[in-house]
Amino acid sequence: MPRIFLSPPHMGPRERELLTEAFDSNWIAPLGPHVDAFEAELAAVVQVPNVCALSSGTAAIHLALVLLGVGVGDEVLVSTFTFAATANAVRYAGATPTFVDSELVSWNMCPDRLAEVLERRKRAGKLPKAIIVVDLYGQCADYDRLVPLAAMYGVPIIEDAAEALGATHGTRAAGSFGEISVFSFNGNKIITTSGGGAMVSLHREHTDRARFLATQARDAAPHYQHSQVGYNYRLSNLLAAVGRGQLEVLSDRVAARRANNAFYREALRGLPGLRLQPEASWGTSTFWLTCMTVDESVSGITREAIREALVSADIEARPLWKPMHLQPVFASCEVIGGAVASGLFECGLCLPSGSSLRPEERAEIAGIVRGCFGHSV
Ligand SMILES: *Cc1c(COP(=O)(O)O)cnc(C)c1O
Repeated sequence: MPRIFLSPPHMGPRERELLTEAFDSNWIAPLGPHVDAFEAELAAVVQVPNVCALSSGTAAIHLALVLLGVGVGDEVLVSTFTFAATANAVRYAGATPTFVDSELVSWNMCPDRLAEVLERRKRAGKLPKAIIVVDLYGQCADYDRLVPLAAMYGVPIIEDAAEALGATHGTRAAGSFGEISVFSFNGNKIITTSGGGAMVSLHREHTDRARFLATQARDAAPHYQHSQVGYNYRLSNLLAAVGRGQLEVLSDRVAARRANNAFYREALRGLPGLRLQPEASWGTSTFWLTCMTVDESVSGITREAIREALVSADIEARPLWKPMHLQPVFASCEVIGGAVASGLFECGLCLPSGSSLRPEERAEIAGIVRGCFGHSV
């Protein structure tokens, strides 16, 4: 069998057709009609009117911070359980991240920990400049609690929905909860442009300014005139064409990932100490990645033993994100709580979850995991 990857790109004929069309039209240079169309189509999916397509999710987070006036000396609260890009962007802005622990029901930012730190900061007389809430592994955070809490203290939320395009919370889509929200179209995400990202917002002024800053902040003049520092952060027209094809099949991709998750849930049922990431009551996860935890004190089996068994069968499986408060690069930063995310990291594993994963591949993976528990395949 060929190597099984965690979350490989999944392309179809439509993506090729649109890419060829973009190429043949000679709209190669940044921007062009596919970028505009991709923005409009993404806006329709997320039900948020303003979208700015960008070169990556990381660029989108960085620009969101810039738009909210985050700079040197500011503090930004960040979910500790995330990929490094979320916290790196805070550093690009010259600000300091303070990490906030997860809650067990969703693995996303814990509203109680957030309430605790906001109250503490208010009493100390200096509030954080922004809060970056991450929708981890395709599941929305608890926005029924997080949004009112942030509003009560007047601190804007940036929703990092890089992993959650296609997820819902109540009647709303992931990416509709932040003052500014961001998506990623990196190669491992639920849909991809090979590399790309987007910023979405209910506020037109944010996306307008993002467009200006992302194209080198050029003033309206015949010569090259600049009054502010700009960036080169826009998505190319070729990649936007691929993205349009991917958006057409987003709901199929979500359904395939959810089917993987349902399969694993059934196939791994009853193994002692093994649990999959819960799906919180408030919404529908895309299960971008299916994640499991194994309690060694119950099972006698470590996460590493399972990972190594999969790796030796040429199957890619990875530990859950190592929380930011445990990363050497952020060692000097404060963390509010931290034990929940650390605990998940210690015993958690991501299983191959791509939308092109075949039934016989899934069955092989589940068989190997069951084999680690001494169960027949
Ligand atoms: C992938 C990812 C990003 C970064 O997106 P890029 O497009 O790779 O820059 C940011 N945050 C999270 C949670 C991610 O998973």
